[in-house]
Amino acid sequence: MARRSAPPAATRARRPPETRPAPPVARTAPETRPVPPPAAPTAPAPKTASAPVYEVFPPQEIERPQPKPVVPPPGPLPRVAIIIDDIGYDRELVRRFLALDVELTFAVLPFSPFQQSITADLRREGYELMLHLPMEPVEYPRIDPGPGALLDRMEPDELIVQLQRNLDSLPEVRGVNNHMGSRLTAHSSRMYQIFSVLKKRGLYFVDSRSTADTVCEPSARLFQLPFAERDVFLDHVVEAEFIRAQFRRLVKEAQRSGEAVAIAHPHDLTVRIFAEQLPRLRGAVQLVPASAIVRIPGGS
Ligand SMILES: [Zn+2]
Repeated sequence: MARRSAPPAATRARRPPETRPAPPVARTAPETRPVPPPAAPTAPAPKTASAPVYEVFPPQEIERPQPKPVVPPPGPLPRVAIIIDDIGYDRELVRRFLALDVELTFAVLPFSPFQQSITADLRREGYELMLHLPMEPVEYPRIDPGPGALLDRMEPDELIVQLQRNLDSLPEVRGVNNHMGSRLTAHSSRMYQIFSVLKKRGLYFVDSRSTADTVCEPSARLFQLPFAERDVFLDHVVEAEFIRAQFRRLVKEAQRSGEAVAIAHPHDLTVRIFAEQLPRLRGAVQLVPASAIVRIPGGS
């Protein structure tokens, strides 16, 4: 059964919660060593692999210049989409997110070691998938966005071919969001090249807002592409109190404007705080897939 036709509920009733203990290590720091070139995805025995890439966050969270317009939710509760980024390196953490038994959207890194097995699991369980598109950050090459990255030095044709390869490796995705990309998302010509491909494939885009100079929204308006922006990063500081405060911010933003988009990462601590916050979340918001929140900018 496809998630998109699921009844409006924050609870997924399919699988019992797991009781497996948490892995011992929470990751906290951006990885800076270079990554290997794209390789054919394989599924070796271990459930986890060291992620060669991590999100790189600006020192201050990049907020919108002004609050977004208020959108009345169709149901009694404001709607929230939570996207889990950087998927493809840790199967165990994905399982623990699934055990939360809530509506989530998973953004998968192209050519990641467990891409095939993780996406197969997620598809079988009916979760919405996105391509987590690696794009050049201002810190490049000190920080490498990893296999499949779109880089500023690429010719337009080269960039488009790489994007198509990334999408072809994940045919089940319904949308795309940016992994890093603080340099590329500020260049309208690059966003036009990217959006021309997404438009043809009928995909939506969620701007992670990794730079205040992002031109994703006006580009999406030009291309009439279904679009949304990240409101809250739940765990860019991997500390329990910080993550709790971000969950409160998320609910507040959803209550203020009718809907909100959050991005979280596959950290052990994130899953634990998520589980702790679930009862409060369930009473306050309706969790929906990202496709339920995107809309064409400037449209109705
Ligand atoms: Zn990422």
